Amino acid sequence: MPWRETQDPYRIWISEVMLQQTRVAVVRERYTEFVRSFPDVSRLARAPAGQVLAAWSGLGYYRRARSLHAAAKIVCRTRGGVVPRSSAELRALPGIGRYTAAALASIAFGEPVAAVDGNVARVVSRLFGGEQGKMCWERAQQLLCVQRPGDFNQAMMELGATVCLPAPRCAACPISWACATRAGSPARPGCKRTKREVSCCLATLADKVFLERRPHHASLMPGMWQLPEVAGRERQQGTEFSLRHSITNIDYLVHVTRSRRPRGLQGRWIRTCHLQRLPLTGLTRKILRRAGIIQ
Ligand code: SF4
Repeated sequence: MPWRETQDPYRIWISEVMLQQTRVAVVRERYTEFVRSFPDVSRLARAPAGQVLAAWSGLGYYRRARSLHAAAKIVCRTRGGVVPRSSAELRALPGIGRYTAAALASIAFGEPVAAVDGNVARVVSRLFGGEQGKMCWERAQQLLCVQRPGDFNQAMMELGATVCLPAPRCAACPISWACATRAGSPARPGCKRTKREVSCCLATLADKVFLERRPHHASLMPGMWQLPEVAGRERQQGTEFSLRHSITNIDYLVHVTRSRRPRGLQGRWIRTCHLQRLPLTGLTRKILRRAGIIQ
């Protein structure tokens, strides 16, 4: 996309406003012509309203064009034509809501703030195992890569627009290992499903949980954090709860046993406030949510 190849905040702003309610294919057609007619904020601010509306033709929802024009005038009058750098300042401009402000500030200026549109909300809800409602913004912020917030936000938008669709393509999803839902995992025809029963140890101490890290050379989910698996006698010591989880063609019945001291297990105590930022396996995330340790 031409607007993904620029760091010019003005151009990113234009594209984000256009993309609010218009399909990408239409925006792609109209964007280049629009920025050719109005190459910077001051040219847009100085243009007669009729000319701006004419250039907006085909994009629909003309209120966006009027707000954009008004905002450009404010930026010229109060800031010498320099686009505000923070999402908070951007939100004070007409036509810029929370999502547009976050997208623009993170992509153009590297502000570490998550941008949640409808597609991203769908991805986040599925990742965390169910409808997140108003918590979506908080969840996305927890996942955000603060070193590269613009890239992260664009990757999430892209994932929601191309893979985690209303009918999700989980087999093509690069983060299916971290997903608590995998809503679109098909029962592959001709592929026999296997049932397996395992037990996990959920050891907690004050505000900490005991987790182990999967080896970096593991073929599945390398480097991810998980609850340790237990076997034999420990398994029979009392199951706190059980749940089902599927990975590829295996349907697991997972028994979770509580413990205060994970004797003989390799791992580390992790503070619960750090869990959301840790790469957890989907099963571990599911168990911790069920146990009320994370939301
Ligand atoms: S695994 Fe499926 S449901 Fe989960 S994020 Fe990926 S596409 Fe969406």
